[in-house]
Amino acid sequence: MHMSLFASLIAVVVLATASAPATAQTPSKRPELSGTLNLLCTPQIAWCEGMKAEFQKVYPRVTVEFVRLSSGEALTRLRNEKANPQFDIWWGGPIDSFIAAKTEGLLEAYSSPNLANLINPKLMKDPDDYWAGIYIGSLGFASNKRFLEQHHLKPPAAWDDLLHPAFKGQLVMAHPASSGTAYTALITVLQLKGEEKGWDYWRQFHANVWQYTKSGAAPAQHVGQGEAAVGVVFSHDIVAQMEQGLPVVLSFAQEGMGWEIGGMAMLKGAKHAALAKAWFDWALEPTTQELGPRYTAYQAPTVKGAQASRPELLQVKLIDYDFAYAGKNKKAFIDKFTNDIATVRK
Ligand code: PLP
Repeated sequence: MHMSLFASLIAVVVLATASAPATAQTPSKRPELSGTLNLLCTPQIAWCEGMKAEFQKVYPRVTVEFVRLSSGEALTRLRNEKANPQFDIWWGGPIDSFIAAKTEGLLEAYSSPNLANLINPKLMKDPDDYWAGIYIGSLGFASNKRFLEQHHLKPPAAWDDLLHPAFKGQLVMAHPASSGTAYTALITVLQLKGEEKGWDYWRQFHANVWQYTKSGAAPAQHVGQGEAAVGVVFSHDIVAQMEQGLPVVLSFAQEGMGWEIGGMAMLKGAKHAALAKAWFDWALEPTTQELGPRYTAYQAPTVKGAQASRPELLQVKLIDYDFAYAGKNKKAFIDKFTNDIATVRK
């Protein structure tokens, strides 16, 4: 992606959502639909449950059944079920997994009329309409306030700050094999430092790690409870912990943070395609994208006319994150991380 396109995206998201021009409309009439929609849901469970209930309000004769799986686990499940797909739609998690899933023939293209609502279609949807972006979020560092005070440390302000000897046995992050959050962090450092120095960084980081979690947001809770000093997590998930009153500080690396576009796609062989399309259309409406904060989800929206609940989370230094590079190398980089750095916990 060219820098100008990236810079304009962030400006557009922040400005468009701050002034919220209501260019995208919510339909007044919905089709009559009934049946069961099987949803593969990757965000936090509270948001998955909230969205299930909200969709069922809009379509009272539809029941949504969902399974919450982290990005990498979701991708593995889809691969395993390729011959007999169990899900109709996949909602949430960084788009690198959707890019990988498209390449592997796991997705069904859908040219929703609401793709026209996207703020920046060039960036926020697949060129062949296999996936669409439904939110945007930046990575952050979550630090335990008391640990920092006790050790006279400032919140980390650079990736290398995490390598400080005071953090030995004190870092927590999800494992990139299961988590899209952690994979975004992995790619961020490889982009910032180049691959050779980047992999070296992860070896050093590993030497300070207390635990790799399965789910990307879990490290913020561990930090909040004082089990670890610092976690690498999406900033909106850190904000969610701070809102609960946990002693957590949010900081960012001055050289830049990676960021995500959360994806959504209809699945190849969806048994309830009409319901999957209804969810897809609904998820790209501005009123739907403003529901997040009700369910402790503070990502920025991707559609025109929806207000960002926390625009400041995108007003930090962000890198020119390369989604295509992340998607193309997903399997190879996860294998390398797993084999050379940290074996996956069973
Ligand atoms: N939960 C939230 C709130 C997210 O923003 C994301 C990333 O898209 C995820 C979960 C992804 O979860 P994981 O890192 O467990 O794959």
